[in-house]
Amino acid sequence: MTPRALAFTSLLAAAITAAGCSGDDDPGPPPPALVLITIDTWRADHLDHSLTPNIHALAEEGWRFDNAFTPVGLTSPAHASLLTGLMPARHGMRANNHHGSTLRWSVETVAEQLRKRGWRTAAFVSAYPAGPEGGLSQGFQVFDGPEASERSGDIAADKAAGWLGTIPAREPLFLWVHLYEPHGPYAPPQQDATAVGASRSDRDLYAAEVHAADRMLGPLLRAAQQRGATIAVTSDHGEVLDEEVCSWQHERSIHEAVLRVPLVIAGRGVHDPALREEWVGLVDVMPTLLALTEQPAMPDVDGLPLLEPGVGRDHWLAESGLCETDCAPGCEPAGLGGRDRVLLAPDWRVVDRPGRGSWAEGAGAPFPDEWPKLFAPLPRFTPPPPPVDPGAEEAAKALGYQD
Ligand SMILES: [Zn+2]
Repeated sequence: MTPRALAFTSLLAAAITAAGCSGDDDPGPPPPALVLITIDTWRADHLDHSLTPNIHALAEEGWRFDNAFTPVGLTSPAHASLLTGLMPARHGMRANNHHGSTLRWSVETVAEQLRKRGWRTAAFVSAYPAGPEGGLSQGFQVFDGPEASERSGDIAADKAAGWLGTIPAREPLFLWVHLYEPHGPYAPPQQDATAVGASRSDRDLYAAEVHAADRMLGPLLRAAQQRGATIAVTSDHGEVLDEEVCSWQHERSIHEAVLRVPLVIAGRGVHDPALREEWVGLVDVMPTLLALTEQPAMPDVDGLPLLEPGVGRDHWLAESGLCETDCAPGCEPAGLGGRDRVLLAPDWRVVDRPGRGSWAEGAGAPFPDEWPKLFAPLPRFTPPPPPVDPGAEEAAKALGYQD
């Protein structure tokens, strides 16, 4: 054998040995990295290649759910459902934190469950209603929020990307990032208004805010993908633009513009990109991320792991955040305790309005004698006593909440 052939043979043997003896030194698959991104007040019909190019590209590689719903158009309770896998009546947070509403002490968030297993957990949020008051911070080692009532989304996104870069590759992690664009008042950065060709109309300014959120998330999404993360991008609720008398708001309505939310799930564990039509909810998001990474399920939750096409519901149960008679004629009492409840299905809905009664719309709705049982998981709401923290009231007023 010539020296050159000998060298080649030795190299080949070394390569075979390296490939074949991975037994003891095999590090196995990387640990899971779960990334939950919520864009506050983002409507389901504002996800496309021009408005949200980064998220649209992610959706092309994963699952896009076109029939995903929130249980309520309020920031704190909707996020509580995301983080617990429970409907609001079970986690106990049915109003925003500045109204004194809190997670039940006995409820364990997914962050708490993962922290117990030694995961690294962090949250970077952008507005008071997603903040720690009321208990959304439970289980997060790092919980970073705005010093004032809200902050620009690029601060939260940049801090989150920075945190992600500090976690060793061998450690499992759960990261939640919340952006407050496009919540009103709509005041997009000029570059985003220009990018979408926005006029001065509220509808255009809202769209430009959605574009801003997507732009701010671009670097974080790329960092999460490089990490091999399993990623969910969704919203806590949508927004009524000009579809109703009560326009440019979300807390007073059970309109589908509020209840239907975008949902994209992609990354590790998602192998077959698909547009999925089944009816799903925010409670399903974390059970799905855990199942995709072969983690133990959250115990006794309302959410379903959406691994197989076809898993979903035949109807969804939701409520408005509060009652105002110009938005919901006849509702009584006004305010937090008079909210509409709605059973929503593809071809019908049943509305229950305190002070006015219940009625069905559309074809094929269940008979009235079935309604009490169907509404039972979401009993009428008794508002909590007002908060004693004057700072909460100030923060709420700064965000435009008057109640
Ligand atoms: Zn919100």
